[in-house]
Amino acid sequence: MELYHSIIADTHLTLLGMSLRRWDYDPAKAWHDTGESELVMLRDAAFELGGSGCPSANFTCVTGKEDLVPKDEILLYGKDLSELKGDVSFARLAFLLTDDLGGDDEATYQAIRDMEFVKYHVFPEGYMVRISSESNREQVRLSKTAIARGIDFRAVGSAYIKGYHKNPHVKRVQIVFITDNAVVSELAKTAKKVDDITRTLTHILEGIPTDCGSCNLKPICDEVEGMREMHFGMRNKG
Ligand code: SF4
Repeated sequence: MELYHSIIADTHLTLLGMSLRRWDYDPAKAWHDTGESELVMLRDAAFELGGSGCPSANFTCVTGKEDLVPKDEILLYGKDLSELKGDVSFARLAFLLTDDLGGDDEATYQAIRDMEFVKYHVFPEGYMVRISSESNREQVRLSKTAIARGIDFRAVGSAYIKGYHKNPHVKRVQIVFITDNAVVSELAKTAKKVDDITRTLTHILEGIPTDCGSCNLKPICDEVEGMREMHFGMRNKG
């Protein structure tokens, strides 16, 4: 699955030079997952990631290239939860190393969707996530109790990695958090691009025409390596 290679590589380039903290995944460090969505009332909130209109971004990329996801780990660019004093800009990215996702294009697409949906099934206690799939925003309300108990990105990231590993296709996971930085606006544009790729895959699987010259998805296929091969590979099979 090479569709997302350039996105992962470009994102790391964008973040290059920023101060970074990284932790190996340790399932024992994962923050308690309540198993269902939890309401954190405004009066019980310490602050919001992506709140007060601050930029926010979220995307998931799948790859089969081992060196793009060297191990299960959590990366943090910016302040950790205990260091934040108010609402800030926020991005959470997930880079997943997978097997061949079942071989054919339809199975691949379905596997990508399943992995994307993991984000709707991770519920760290005191960490209320609101996701807008239309704008690719992920906004999080932190409870004062969770902050007092010492919640941090290492623990939250470990909870996410645990969630992704429930999918048998997933071999390794890198979770990247970015707080309080102008780069989040840049990543919001990347999130839109990732969304465009996934939507183009949907159209391809629905069987759109194969004349690139008159196809309104051409700008995406011009930019993303592997998209045309996927479309014409499907046609040849049909
Ligand atoms: S490969 Fe060509 S026809 Fe297929 S989606 Fe891309 S631009 Fe459209």
